[in-house]
Amino acid sequence: MSKLQDKMFLDLRNKNIFNQAQQYSYEYLKSIFDREVYPTEAALKNLSAFDEELPENPTEASSVIEQLNTYGSPATTATLGGRYFGFVCGSVVPVGLAAKNLGTYWDQAPAMNVLSPIGSKLESVVEKWLINLFNLPQHTSAGFVSGTSSANLCGLAAARYRILERNQWDINKKGLRNAPEIRIVTGKQAHSTVLKAIGILGLGTENIEWVDVDDQGRILYESIPKLDANTILILQAGNVNSGAFDDFDRICKKANKVGAWVHIDGAFGLWAGAVNELKYLTKGMEHASSWAVDGHKTLNTPYDCGIVLCSDPEAMTSALHMSGSYIIESSERDGMFFTPEMSRRARIIELWAILRHLGKQGVDEMILTMHHRAKQFANEITPIKGFYVENDVVFNQIIVRCDTDELTERVLGTIQKLRTCWLGGSLWSGKRVIRVSICSWATTEYDITTSVKSFKKALEIVRIK
Ligand SMILES: *Cc1c(COP(=O)(O)O)cnc(C)c1O
Repeated sequence: MSKLQDKMFLDLRNKNIFNQAQQYSYEYLKSIFDREVYPTEAALKNLSAFDEELPENPTEASSVIEQLNTYGSPATTATLGGRYFGFVCGSVVPVGLAAKNLGTYWDQAPAMNVLSPIGSKLESVVEKWLINLFNLPQHTSAGFVSGTSSANLCGLAAARYRILERNQWDINKKGLRNAPEIRIVTGKQAHSTVLKAIGILGLGTENIEWVDVDDQGRILYESIPKLDANTILILQAGNVNSGAFDDFDRICKKANKVGAWVHIDGAFGLWAGAVNELKYLTKGMEHASSWAVDGHKTLNTPYDCGIVLCSDPEAMTSALHMSGSYIIESSERDGMFFTPEMSRRARIIELWAILRHLGKQGVDEMILTMHHRAKQFANEITPIKGFYVENDVVFNQIIVRCDTDELTERVLGTIQKLRTCWLGGSLWSGKRVIRVSICSWATTEYDITTSVKSFKKALEIVRIK
């Protein structure tokens, strides 16, 4: 045995580094809900501790873990807590952290059933649960990918495959050269990752037929061009700024009449479909052909967790298919047929654990609570002079602005410096805005009130200056 190998066995047997990491994790969890939401200036400066050459010789494993904790932990953003409202992120339901921890030691790759029977089993089970939760067609298939960026890519790849196949064109063999034309129709507020997928798939963003949207970012039905069977129509469940939903019921009916493919980008918003009081927002979404949704946003799974769902499993597996002579296909699920990757981590473990833990009622309650907190935020900020809520708070997003762009920017910068909560800016109807996304199970009424106070304080600071 080599000396290094000896050392690794020792690390494994005496468990010191595992206990050390576990201890750090507990300390981290204890502090994260009270800590400043964004790293302090000092913590950011200390990141220079990582600016080193790759060492010549091995370092003690415990020192590596220690370095990671000492300089890494303070430089994290507290997305796990209840006052991180930036972008659209999510916290993690505690059972998800525990399950991920156990799954880390399993280190499974659910590419094939023989490679990970447990991974394969959980993927099959959760696929059924999701169909049920979202009320999708029974034959819908699910692929477990890294996020909605990837899920959008997979859904649109399935669409591209099917449309060309109907034109007697096998995209996998013939490629795009001289291929029949595919039309792309989407709203002017489509998410950037949709455009990225269109680019990667060789469909070309310049070919997009843009549809006008209303003041909430919803596609205007009357502005949708004439659709046909060669069209991919991309809709949205949850506008990244306003949280608004396209009118799936009406639009899908129109698309289905001519056989167009409808893909729904529902990164965070699709979950409204699993909430009794909110599912009116996704009415008719089951009539689409593919859906992209995240676990790591609204459902609060750990990163990374995205899901592509497709009511045309054959198109999906044909679009993402791969095979090799050593591939053992089984009658059970082989996960790689539903994702672009062969090897990937078994993110299904946490997704399963959280759904198993919450049940339908728990999912409903957790997400409805986020909605109520968003309403609370809007209700508490509206009476404060100098702040304006710019959207209808139908789900979990609130758009706030001040009297001028300049003021909005300065107030946002001050809120970020106060570190009570964290949010980012965006552009809405040509104006600079502050975007608030309530996406954590851990956000309490107190968190909202405290954060609104921070907004007020920031405005006062900026006005005095
Ligand atoms: C976040 C988001 C995406 C991208 O999802 P990732 O999980 O970050 O890849 C796509 N569309 C919308 C509407 C989003 O909010």
